[in-house]
Amino acid sequence: MYKQTCTNLLEQPPEKVKEWLNGFDAVITDCDGVLWVYSNVIEGAVDTMNRFKTIGKKIFFCTNNSTKTRQQLLEKSHSMGFDITADGMISSAHSTAAYLKARNFQKKVYVIGAGGITGELDAVGIKHSDVGPDVMTSTLADYLATSFSKDPEIGAVVVGFDEHFSFCKMIKAASYLDNPECLFIATNTDERFPMPGMVIPGSGSFVRAVQTCAEREPFVIGKPNPSICEWLINEGTIDPARTLMIGDRCNTDILLGYNCGFQTLLVGTGIHKLNDVEAWKQSDDPEQKKLIPDVFLPKLGDLLPFM
Ligand SMILES: [Mg+2]
Repeated sequence: MYKQTCTNLLEQPPEKVKEWLNGFDAVITDCDGVLWVYSNVIEGAVDTMNRFKTIGKKIFFCTNNSTKTRQQLLEKSHSMGFDITADGMISSAHSTAAYLKARNFQKKVYVIGAGGITGELDAVGIKHSDVGPDVMTSTLADYLATSFSKDPEIGAVVVGFDEHFSFCKMIKAASYLDNPECLFIATNTDERFPMPGMVIPGSGSFVRAVQTCAEREPFVIGKPNPSICEWLINEGTIDPARTLMIGDRCNTDILLGYNCGFQTLLVGTGIHKLNDVEAWKQSDDPEQKKLIPDVFLPKLGDLLPFM
């Protein structure tokens, strides 16, 4: 129903919307830009998600945000009124730690990121470097002569969102990655976060910087890589054809839906808008066609009258 047509559900007859609502049993939703923007909940989002649950749909929150642990995301969700459990919380930081744990990783991780990553690594007993500021206070020559020596225990570099990203961290990451045995993992590759009057670099910007000087490609954990939610399919928790993916960013959320065979809903409360989709529809690039969602709503709460 509505496959990759970006149909505005508000322009459909109510019985069609109800039919569409009956077409899925599980809902995976992005968080920032769909449920909330920073610490402000988006109008109608709590009631809609909780209603999905009451009418018997399985719900999952899936975020590329690596700055918080799963527990912290759960607490944030509860404080806003969302009825969700830890099992329903999928985050790139948690999935990164789970990925390393599943590989029986025994060494230490060099982290460019924040407490979300280190907290999840601690939770599974994996050693890591400290996060926070690491800046050059001398000349480069002095720094190299006195301040930098490689830690022989490091066996992986993880790059996520880091508001203290620096030249020193690039030197360290790229030097560790010069060893082909060292794993290179990116929590996600979201390019940026537009804000009124400014642009905040996202993890993808830091990943690209490290990737350029390391001359290596990372393994990406977060959306649109199916690995972030593949286990739900493999263990039979969700049926891809009867799963709805909701997002505000097409090259992560909607593309994940495409990659996993989910139905997709774009909401207009975040990054991508209808005019972006219009441009992809006109494009001849098959990669851009993958970004077109099945349906569109100005905001998630617009569904409430149909539920
Ligand atoms: Mg988002």
